[in-house]
Amino acid sequence: MRYEEKIRTISNYPKPGIMFKDITPLILDGYLLRKAVREMTDKFRNRRIDKVVGAESRGFIFGALVAYELGVGFVPVRKKGKLPYEVISGSYEKEYGLDYIEMHKDAISKGDNVLIVDDLIATGGTVEAMIKMIESLGGKIEGMCFLIELDFLNPREKFKGYDIHSLIHYDKE
Ligand code: AMP
Repeated sequence: MRYEEKIRTISNYPKPGIMFKDITPLILDGYLLRKAVREMTDKFRNRRIDKVVGAESRGFIFGALVAYELGVGFVPVRKKGKLPYEVISGSYEKEYGLDYIEMHKDAISKGDNVLIVDDLIATGGTVEAMIKMIESLGGKIEGMCFLIELDFLNPREKFKGYDIHSLIHYDKE
């Protein structure tokens, strides 16, 4: 079965004009979940990865599983105010104003090779903010992997020189 058959598009969610890719049917299928996580991990198995970084909340699902596959630590990126220890903050443009994300300052050490994982890359704004935080702590982005990439939003244009790996591509909404 193709992954696309277990990804449903919900029109106008969470607001008018957004075609939301709902991955919950895919992760409900144990076989496909394992296949997806393994394929997302494959390209990076023989590379030096020290940490996997994923943003809440669907980035936690895939990020933690990829980290488990690689046998490395997982770093959660959360919305502002959710992490208990000292944080570094990042911001990115949403349709209306800025959104803030945070990670613990001690989560990345200088020289760490980092893999960014999420369920989906759309405009790339979230990832761009994550990269800034990771690099300012001295981490190096070894690569990024996503289950879904929305090609029609051209996220790759923001990340020339970075290694991006996505399992599924949508060229239109
Ligand atoms: P962006 O910063 O635009 O790349 O958006 C990425 C984040 O927003 C990811 O964590 C996605 O889970 C979520 N997201 C953005 N657009 C969609 C969409 N069409 N369907 C599902 N999730 C989305």
